Amino acid sequence: MKILTVSDKVEQLIYSPAIKRLFGDVDLVLGCGDLPFYYLEYIVTMLGGPLFYVIGNHANAVRKQYAPRQEWQYPGGCENIDGRVVRYRKLLIAGLEGSMRYNQNPFFQYTEREMAWKVWRLVPSLVLNRLLHGRYLDILITHAPPFGIHDQEDRCHQGFRAFRTLMDRFRPSYLIHGHVHVYSPTEITETIYRQTKVLNTYGYRTLEIDGGHLE
Ligand SMILES: [Zn+2]
Repeated sequence: MKILTVSDKVEQLIYSPAIKRLFGDVDLVLGCGDLPFYYLEYIVTMLGGPLFYVIGNHANAVRKQYAPRQEWQYPGGCENIDGRVVRYRKLLIAGLEGSMRYNQNPFFQYTEREMAWKVWRLVPSLVLNRLLHGRYLDILITHAPPFGIHDQEDRCHQGFRAFRTLMDRFRPSYLIHGHVHVYSPTEITETIYRQTKVLNTYGYRTLEIDGGHLE
């Protein structure tokens, strides 16, 4: 199965008619936050679904689209998987939105404790996966990185310890995040942590997963 992952940056290669030629064979798109909604909608329109995503900390786009009826507006045709597990063609995928809390913006920022609680709330679904499918989770998409992996010193770009705990206990094959901008080709964007490959998808990545053996 071919997966396209995107975050943080509108890529001209993707936001153009060339997307069909270059990524037409993609089976699934995963969005790791801080992208304008028109971009996600463009991708899902051109490639077809599904597109699972989480919201990043830069929620200005969201706030601007705050509707008079006090309802959040989200990108059409895409599925927000924050705080839940979905199954697509046997792949078990979960999402956790937002970044470390660094100012008073009420939305899409979490303290370590709040994120630990969000992870805790996933546990029943993960345990059910284990019973039904023999494993807890295949892919976790997040906006922020795990603590100590691709993260940075400043509060905003510090990673979550709760993501490490999740990897320790539930061993997903992948944790795919954004948030940490990559400016140099020497920057590390792939790290193996225990049984999980941690990928920073800043911009975009493609990834092949052989799901043949999955239940
Ligand atoms: Zn961010």
